[in-house]
Order: sequence, then C-alpha cells, then structure tokens
Amino acid sequence: MGKCIIIGKFNEDQVLEEYAQKIPSPSNRVDFASLHLFPAIVSEFGGVDNMDTELMNLKNRRVVVIGGGVAGSLLAKSLQFHADVTLLDPKEYFEIPWASLRAMVEPSFAEGSVINHRDYLTNGRIITSRAINVTDKEVLTAEGRALVYDYLVIATGHLYSVPRTRTERLSQYETENEKIRSAGSILIIGGGPTGVELTGEIAVDFPEKEVTLVHNGSRLMQFIGPKASNKTLDWLRSKRVEVKLEQSVNLNSVSDGSRTYQTSAGETIEADCHFLCTGSPLGSAWLKETFLKDKLDIHGRLMVDKNLRVKDHSNIFAIGILPIFQQLWPNFGKPSQHHQSFGNKTLLREESVESLAEKALLGLNINNYKPKEIKQGYPAQKHAEVVATNLKLLMGGGKESKMATYEPQSMKAIVSVSLGRREAVAQLPFTTTIGHIPGMIKSRDLFVGKTRKRIGLDPHIVHE
Ligand SMILES: Cc1cc2nc3c(=O)[nH]c(=O)nc-3n(C[C@H](O)[C@H](O)[C@H](O)COP(=O)(O)OP(=O)(O)OC[C@H]3O[C@@H](n4cnc5c(N)ncnc54)[C@H](O)[C@@H]3O)c2cc1C
Repeated sequence: MGKCIIIGKFNEDQVLEEYAQKIPSPSNRVDFASLHLFPAIVSEFGGVDNMDTELMNLKNRRVVVIGGGVAGSLLAKSLQFHADVTLLDPKEYFEIPWASLRAMVEPSFAEGSVINHRDYLTNGRIITSRAINVTDKEVLTAEGRALVYDYLVIATGHLYSVPRTRTERLSQYETENEKIRSAGSILIIGGGPTGVELTGEIAVDFPEKEVTLVHNGSRLMQFIGPKASNKTLDWLRSKRVEVKLEQSVNLNSVSDGSRTYQTSAGETIEADCHFLCTGSPLGSAWLKETFLKDKLDIHGRLMVDKNLRVKDHSNIFAIGILPIFQQLWPNFGKPSQHHQSFGNKTLLREESVESLAEKALLGLNINNYKPKEIKQGYPAQKHAEVVATNLKLLMGGGKESKMATYEPQSMKAIVSVSLGRREAVAQLPFTTTIGHIPGMIKSRDLFVGKTRKRIGLDPHIVHE
C-alpha cells in the first residue's frame, strides 16, 4: 500500500510530516512510538525500517518549483515534508497580490501580506534568483546555479519588477504612500481591476484628492460584464473621480517633474503624480529559448494536459496563470471546433470574442465551447492543490491513471473587485451587485487572513 493511502486512511499527515522531518535519527522513533496511531501507521509500512526507507525515498525526490507567487508558494509549502523541495524566486518573499493596492494607502497592511518564503517554507530550499534556462534534467538560474530535478513545476505567473527583500518592499510602500499623501491630484493609467482598485482605495481614503482614471477601452474592467463595468463607473464618479474612456496617455512625452500629461484624444491632464496600472507581461519569456519552447502558445502560455502536466512531459507541471488547458491547445481536436476564421486569420476561440453572449450575437457556433479560465488567485491555488496531490501520488509510486484531473473554472465564476475599504462590485452567476454587501466579503481584509492560513500562518496579523 502506498503512503498517500495511508495518510488518507489515518488522516495523520501531521504525524508523518513530523516523522519525516526527524529521520534519519533513530532516537526519534522512541518519541513517535508513543503516539497512539503510530504503531498502526508503522504496520502499514511493514515495520519501522521500511517506513524509514520509504520516507527517505520520498524525501529524496527532488521537486523544483519555479516562481514563488500565489500558486508556486502554496505548492512548495504543501510538498515540503513529502519531497526535497527547492523554491526558486527572484525575491525573498511571497506577496499576496490583491493586498498590494491597500498597502499603498496603508503601508502597515503589507506587514501581513508580504511574507518571507522562509516563514511558511520551513523545510525546503529557497534560492533567490531567476530561472533563465531549463533542460530535461535541470534548471539554470541567473546566478549560474544548476538545480537538478526529478519533478519540475513552472509557476512564473507574471513578471513584476519588485525589490528583492521584504524590508525593501515594505519601504517601497512607505514611499508610494508618501507620493499619494503629498499629491493634490493623481492620474491613474489603466482601468483594469488593478487601476480600478487603486482608484477606489485612494478615493475612499483621500477624498480630498483630485483623481483621474484614464482607460483605453470602451468600458472599465473588460474581463467582466458590462453591468459590472457600468456600476463601477457610476460608483467612481460618485466619488468625484474623473474617468476618461477610450484614451491612452503618452508617457514618452512626459518629462521628469512635469505635471502635464497628453492623452491620445488630444486632452491635457494636470496631475502631481501618476500610477501605471496597465498590467504586467507573463513570466514565460525565458522559456522561449528552451526545450519547452514548442509547448508555448503565441501568448506565452504553457500547454498542459488535464493533470496539469506540460504537454508530452510526464514530470513537468505548470500552474497558476501560465497554463493553457488542453481544450484550447492549438490544433487540439477538430480545428473547426476550436478555431474560428476571421478573414485570413485563424484565432483560438477564446481570443476571438470576449464572451459567449457576444459570440452568439455574431452568429458563431458556441456548441462545445470551452471558455478560458479567469486569471485569478483562486484557480491558481486550486492548480497547486491538484499538482501537490499528483506529485504525492507519483512520488509514492502511484499509477498515472489515478492522477487528479483539473477542470478549468468557468469564466462565469464569481468575480469581486474591491472599491475601497467597505464596498465592492461583485459579478455572480445570475446577478451583479455593488456596495457594502459584496464589500463585507472581500474589502475589509482582502482575504489576507485566509491566504495566510492557507500557507499555514497565523491569519490574525492583519491590521484592522
Ligand atoms: C494588483 C493585483 C490585484 C489582483 N487582485 C486579485 C483579486 O482581487 N482576486 C484574485 O483572485 N486575483 C487577483 N489578482 C490576480 C492574481 O494575483 C493572479 O491570478 C495570481 O497571482 C496568479 O498566480 P501565479 O502563481 O500564477 O503568479 P504570480 O502570483 O504572479 O507569481 C509568479 C511568481 O513567479 C516569479 N517569477 C517570474 N519569473 C520568474 C523566473 N524567471 N524565475 C523564477 N521566478 C519567477 C515571480 O517573482 C512571482 O513570485 C490580482 C493581481 C494583481 C497584480
């Protein structure tokens, strides 16, 4: 019987974790023998020596996790007592991304949302560097180290330019906060969820500031429905935010210290400072010169199968916002089912139209349509859980056919965007709502406590 079954049967993961931590010192057996379930677990292994050997084997499996963001950090934490885990990340900390905008108006909030990797990864190796290459055996870092792996998990999500240490990151929030406090007028560029949430935080905490939000789309937050966009627009305007749609700001024409910004529509905006919220590129450019390059789609996403393994690679997984699911691989299934022709271009369905409704309006066939997954934290955490389960199974000698499968979350999943400390706009399957009720769920602590708990930390450090 494999270890995973034993763990499941006795629900004593903790016992095994503690035991695994202490081997190979034989003296520890005395302590553990006193645990009432221990003899039963030992007998499942066929004796304490076998248990030692099997757990040692498990711990000798080298798992390298590239990227210590939402998905990678949870995965590394989940496997730390089950394998020899190495987490590779350019920064020394995991940051809860959805708390970052609150931290700009209240820097002490980041005390709970910027977490040193070492605080939750107590039994793994942490390498503070970037992956620059990968072969079928090892990962190469920017500092020239080679990390040999038996299993590899790629979780490089987005590429952010953030400081290396937690202390530097906390001090960066102080600087940004000072920038907001000392400005009379603020320009926010980009009306996606990040730009909207930042605008909401500033409008609520600093109602005296003149805030302008410029967005190049025809409506705010195009990843959700028009109702949510319109309600958000009304809310922002009720807070005296000036919102300019279908315009962009030419930052090249802004010299240092200048307060004048030109928009693509020829308008001039005066502001003491600006914040750029136009999104970050995917963190997969480094894969383009590697042996995995043909597993990337044109957007830089990695093709994964239903078990979240990279196409054709039985020991490499991809999680977080990076994977593109099997149903959407180029040339997967019948081309006519998954591609749509527009003039001389053939596009993947998910790129061709924004929503099923719009697609139907265009008269396109929506049968068998598999929507792309919303790029949010919840699915990223789910990916980590599925891959942790699969790796435990594979490392324990389980059959590939028994691996857990992952079903992409629907684009109709619940989406909530906070609007300051108390309010939010939420798109639910059958309705869209804005105000204090959705705000009660998300906006107070922004799920920081819950996220900390998920990686085994005290949830209560959050500043109220
Ligand atoms: C400001 C903001 C607000 C958000 N708000 C919400 C929200 O309210 N709700 C929600 O569900 N989602 C929200 N999201 C989205 C959510 O954060 C992402 O979906 C989630 O972070 C994706 O997880 P990930 O692990 O794939 O990538 P990330 O969390 O982006 O992590 C990627 C990690 O990979 C590392 N990395 C990159 N390149 C390399 C390399 N070459 N080598 C090694 N490491 C590398 C990075 O340093 C980073 O640590 C928000 C995102 C942002 C930025």
